[in-house]
Amino acid sequence: MKRAVCPGTFDPMTNGHLDIIERASAVFDEIVVAVALSPEKGGGPLFTIDERVEMVAKATEHLPNVSVRPFDSLLVDLARQVGATIIVKGLRAVTDFEREFQMAQLNYRIDDEIETMFIVAIPEYMYLSSSAVKEIAGHGGVVEGLVPANVNERLVGRLRKGR
Ligand code: ADP
Repeated sequence: MKRAVCPGTFDPMTNGHLDIIERASAVFDEIVVAVALSPEKGGGPLFTIDERVEMVAKATEHLPNVSVRPFDSLLVDLARQVGATIIVKGLRAVTDFEREFQMAQLNYRIDDEIETMFIVAIPEYMYLSSSAVKEIAGHGGVVEGLVPANVNERLVGRLRKGR
């Protein structure tokens, strides 16, 4: 039984995240999507932890071997807690490399029984990030096709309210 954790902030989830989760779910027996509280990231998340978990859960409901949970601890501790031996991450353009290499090596140092594995982003989503989505949507741009439909609805609702 190969169980993997797929961590991130998911503020909000994009189709790039979803593509990685779908592909990982075809390789491993079970995927636990771990949504980081990340209170400090980029001046604080736009969506609460509960909203982010809910959005990921809804967007992945077609994948029976995927579950979602929040976390606010060391990633390797969370992995151990859920019985996962793999950390699976998406890798975009070169900009992701240094940060991901550093995290993978530090996590390996903490627990060498947990392997980090990467799935390379498809060209279409290579430059797609949550921050870009927020910037486009915040200026009234259309993000349909870049995020799951339920995330699009929530973004539109949130930003309309904010004006
Ligand atoms: P972001 O970097 O967009 O704020 P997260 O911190 O939630 O997103 O990222 C979680 C993981 O998802 C990271 O491994 C990141 O490389 C990956 N990821 C994010 N966007 C994409 C994408 N468009 N394609 C593939 N992987 C992605």
